[in-house]
Amino acid sequence: MTRFSKVYPNREIRELITMNEQVPHFGGILKNYVGGKFVSSDMLFNNINPVDGSVINQVAEADAGIVDQAVKAARKALHGEWASMPLAKRCQLLHKVADGIEARFEEFVAAEMADTGKSFFQARTIDIPRGAANFRAFADMVKSQSTECFHTDTPDGSGALNYAVNKPLGVVAVIAPWNLPLLLMTWKLAPAMAAGNVIVAKPSEETPATATLLAEVMHEAGIPAGVFNLVHGFGHKSAGEFLTTHEGVDAVTFTGESSTGSAIMRAAADGVKGLSFELGGKNAAIVFEDCDFEEAVNGTARSVFTNGGQVCMCTERVYVHRSIFDKFVSAMKAKAEQINIGWPLDEDTDMGPVISHKHRDKVLSYYQSAVEEGANVITGGKVPVFGDARDNGAFVQPTIFTGLTEQAKIVQQEVFGPVCHIAPFDDEEQAIAMANDSKYGLCATVWTTNLPRAHRVAGQMEVGICWVNSWYLRDLRTPFGGVKLSGVGREGGVHSLSFYSEPTNICIKL
Ligand code: NAD
Repeated sequence: MTRFSKVYPNREIRELITMNEQVPHFGGILKNYVGGKFVSSDMLFNNINPVDGSVINQVAEADAGIVDQAVKAARKALHGEWASMPLAKRCQLLHKVADGIEARFEEFVAAEMADTGKSFFQARTIDIPRGAANFRAFADMVKSQSTECFHTDTPDGSGALNYAVNKPLGVVAVIAPWNLPLLLMTWKLAPAMAAGNVIVAKPSEETPATATLLAEVMHEAGIPAGVFNLVHGFGHKSAGEFLTTHEGVDAVTFTGESSTGSAIMRAAADGVKGLSFELGGKNAAIVFEDCDFEEAVNGTARSVFTNGGQVCMCTERVYVHRSIFDKFVSAMKAKAEQINIGWPLDEDTDMGPVISHKHRDKVLSYYQSAVEEGANVITGGKVPVFGDARDNGAFVQPTIFTGLTEQAKIVQQEVFGPVCHIAPFDDEEQAIAMANDSKYGLCATVWTTNLPRAHRVAGQMEVGICWVNSWYLRDLRTPFGGVKLSGVGREGGVHSLSFYSEPTNICIKL
């Protein structure tokens, strides 16, 4: 009996065991990828499955020397074959990377599920398909990237022509979080590589597997050695910090916590490196009395509990018009209690564990502080008990609180778990003020059937993206990012390409 059959003791496990036996790293060592070669290290750390706490494999942590080699390999590749490669060929290679992810789809799904405990359904329908789609989208979009051109008057009347030429930024450090590991890493890699940059990427220490598979795919696709490098490790005093402070890195693109963003900003200051940050959120939903009630309940429940609340776009604050408040809270309670928490591979599993025991303890400390501050626990608030190996995992119950003031810790700080606080409001002005009363500003959602109100309220939300009567509806060409503590810059379509490009203006006297 393999370890995976113990982790997933249900009928679909036969399929997963087969898949996992095909994944070379399961039970082995996940290595760094530097200058086209897989490199181990003598510092190994365990990669833990949050479903039952078992060790999936070990990871070779990159020390300062390995990070230095990766940055140097990238710098060398910046001036090699990659630089002179015609754009069409570069785009073809990026499509080959997407093909490679699709060809090894089941391995990627198995690896992402093992690292995160997320459901089979989510890994198959969101995480891994988007990993491939990101490469295809930016390989196509970069072909129509344009630059400006101006005719300028000169004193002698002959004029001058100014036009800009896009060049890559150079060596880009890509630092990714654990919640949507492949999706978010490729969301940065694809535009950065499409724009001709070379990369040193660091996945989260919690989710090293799909990034390692991606290195294999890059290798198999024929991405020239050094163009994509991967280093494993932690943040502070580890690979993350070695990378962001390395003088050979030209820019850092980071997704993660706002406090980590601040630390990286400080670390990158000496080198005056370019920065793109997608940070935390404390997203609000406003539910008006004129909403389509069922749609608003379904949409809000989805926005609170998807991926165990561990999506930066998840709603953690819900404001509901007082006239429908009680009915809405009861409907949300019913929805939360219908959520099946369990084995990622079970067809009826809606929600897996949170990412780690450490994160579970953080979520639970927020649950406790809410109770201490006088919250009504509408549902949840505890660790579920299964009576099997999952009790060694990192599960928490989907949870709803009411009754807190806007100053309460759980209303102000990002939890990043399956939880929301629901509060009533009396009029539009108050709802807008409550939603905007946050240090964060990533997303908001407005539920209303009143069209003028939809435009009016959405336009006043202090966020990077506001949905009306939907949530997580994404078009990869649109700007995505946050205001306030939620980020710096925008990703998506031309916004990503613009960050990863350095326009040089050329002025020709005519
Ligand atoms: P995190 O900030 O703890 O870690 C993210 C990455 O940064 C990891 O790879 C980590 O090793 C690295 N890191 C940590 N300290 C570092 C340092 N000092 N120097 C360099 N690298 C360092 O975040 P997380 O816990 O992995 O992810 C959850 C957070 O990410 C939440 O706050 C969530 O809202 C945010 N997030 C934001 C978006 C967005 O698009 N805005 C998307 C997903 C997640």
